[in-house]
Amino acid sequence: MNEHAGLAGLVCQASIAPPGAECAYGTCQATATVRLMLRHGHPPYDYCEVDWPRVTDTLRTRGQTVTDTTGDMWTVRAEFANWEIWQSKSSGVYYALTSFGGRGVSVHAYLAGTLRAGMRAAEQNRTGQAPRLPQRAR
Ligand SMILES: [Zn+2]
Repeated sequence: MNEHAGLAGLVCQASIAPPGAECAYGTCQATATVRLMLRHGHPPYDYCEVDWPRVTDTLRTRGQTVTDTTGDMWTVRAEFANWEIWQSKSSGVYYALTSFGGRGVSVHAYLAGTLRAGMRAAEQNRTGQAPRLPQRAR
């Protein structure tokens, strides 16, 4: 925890986007998975995971770092004992790898919360249950 994070008057917090939210990046309009709050009191922006590394790169060049409020990677590790989880040092992306009956399965995500959702969906696919994905609002 950085006690001085508020010195520049900037906060940047990542959370899970509400169901039905659309990506605010350009003309993307894909289903958003991540919500970013760039400044306290300003409206948040929702992004799809695809553009997420680009968004955080932009923020990093402005001297902002992103706080992941979607979960704790240690909790995810404890929940999924049969998965191997690591983080890419260059991109910051989390990777999770496991094998179901000899078939390798991998999931990657930028945030603990979206990684957990992907891993849970993969485990549900394995057991033959359809993953419960949020329905897109029309
Ligand atoms: Zn997008």
